[in-house]
Amino acid sequence: MANVGFIGLGVMGAPMALNILKGGHSLSVFDLNPDAVARLVEAGATACSSPREVGAASDFVVTMLPEPRHVREAILGKDGVAEGLRKGGIVIEMSTIDPKTSQSVGDELRKRGMNLVDSPVGKTSEHAVTGTLTLMIGGEPEAIARAEPVLDCMGNEKYYCGGPGMGHAMKITNNVLATTIMVANTEALAMGLKCGLTLELMQSVMKNTMAWNSQFSTAMPKKGFLGDDSPGFAIRLAAKDVRLACELEESLGIPSRIGRGGLAALDAAIVAGYGDRDTARLMFMLEEKLGVEARQQPVKKAG
Ligand code: NAD
Repeated sequence: MANVGFIGLGVMGAPMALNILKGGHSLSVFDLNPDAVARLVEAGATACSSPREVGAASDFVVTMLPEPRHVREAILGKDGVAEGLRKGGIVIEMSTIDPKTSQSVGDELRKRGMNLVDSPVGKTSEHAVTGTLTLMIGGEPEAIARAEPVLDCMGNEKYYCGGPGMGHAMKITNNVLATTIMVANTEALAMGLKCGLTLELMQSVMKNTMAWNSQFSTAMPKKGFLGDDSPGFAIRLAAKDVRLACELEESLGIPSRIGRGGLAALDAAIVAGYGDRDTARLMFMLEEKLGVEARQQPVKKAG
C-alpha cells in the first residue's frame, strides 16, 4: 500500500480521496477550505498545512483543483508539491486543464527527477462516490504503470490516450462537445415549449431522430427536469472547460463558432450570479425569461 497525498477536496475530490482511503492506502490531504479537510481527517486522513507538506509525506500526490493556475501553483509554486516530493515521486493530475499546462508542469517535474501522469475524469460526482469514474490517462508508460493501483481506487474504466498531456487533450475534447450539446438542448427545448409543445412530446419524437443525445436522455432528467440545480457540475467549471477548448481550437486554426456560442451562454449565467449552480440553471434561466417550464415527475420505485 502506498503513501498518497490529495489536494483539492471539493465535489469530486472529496469522494475520490475517500475511495483512496477505502483502498487501504495512507492519505495526506490539503485544501484551502478547512471544513473539507476536517471531513477527510474524520475518515482517517492526515491534514497537511501546505502542498509541500503533502508532497513530503507521499509517493503519489493527486491534484483535483478547479483551474490550470491552481494546478500550477499547487505543484510548482512556493510551498508547492515539488518542494516536498522525493525524487521518483509521481503527481497524478486529475483536474480538467489544458494539455499545454499539463505538459509544461510535467516537463518541470521531470527536470527535478519526479513525474506527472495526467488522468482527468469523465462522468459525474455520483460516479466519484462509487469509484466508477472514466479515466483518460496520459504520460510515460512506466509512470502510468506505477500510478495504476491509486487510479484503480477512483475509476473502473481506463483509456490510455498517449504521452504526457494526452489525457487532458481527450478530456477537453470531450467537454467542449458535451457542454455545447447541453447548451443547444436548453435553447431548442425552450423554443419548443414556448411554441406550445410539451416536454413529453419532444422526448417521444426526438428519441427516434438524430436530435437524441445523452444530455437530453440521461443528464437532464436527473437534474434540470426535476427542478434541481444544486452543484453537481458548476457553471463556472463548465465555462472554464469551454474557454480552454476555444483557446485550444483557435490556436490550432479551428474557428470556434459553436464553442464561443456555448461560452456566451455560460458567461451570461455567471454574470447573473449563477456560477456556483449546476449547469441545469441554464434551462431555468430561459424558462424564467419565457414563462415556460420543462419538468417531469421523478419515477417512483415500487415498495
Ligand atoms: P470544486 O470547486 O467543488 O472543488 C475544488 C476544491 O479545490 C475546493 O475544495 C477548493 O477549496 C479547492 N482549492 C481551490 N484552489 C485551491 C488551492 N490553490 N489549493 C488547495 N485547494 C484548492 O470542483 P470539483 O467539481 O471538485 O472539480 C474539480 C476539477 O474536476 C475541476 O477541474 C473540474 O472541471 C473537474 N471535473 C468536475 C466534474 C464535476 O462533475 N463536478 C466532473 C469531471 C471533472
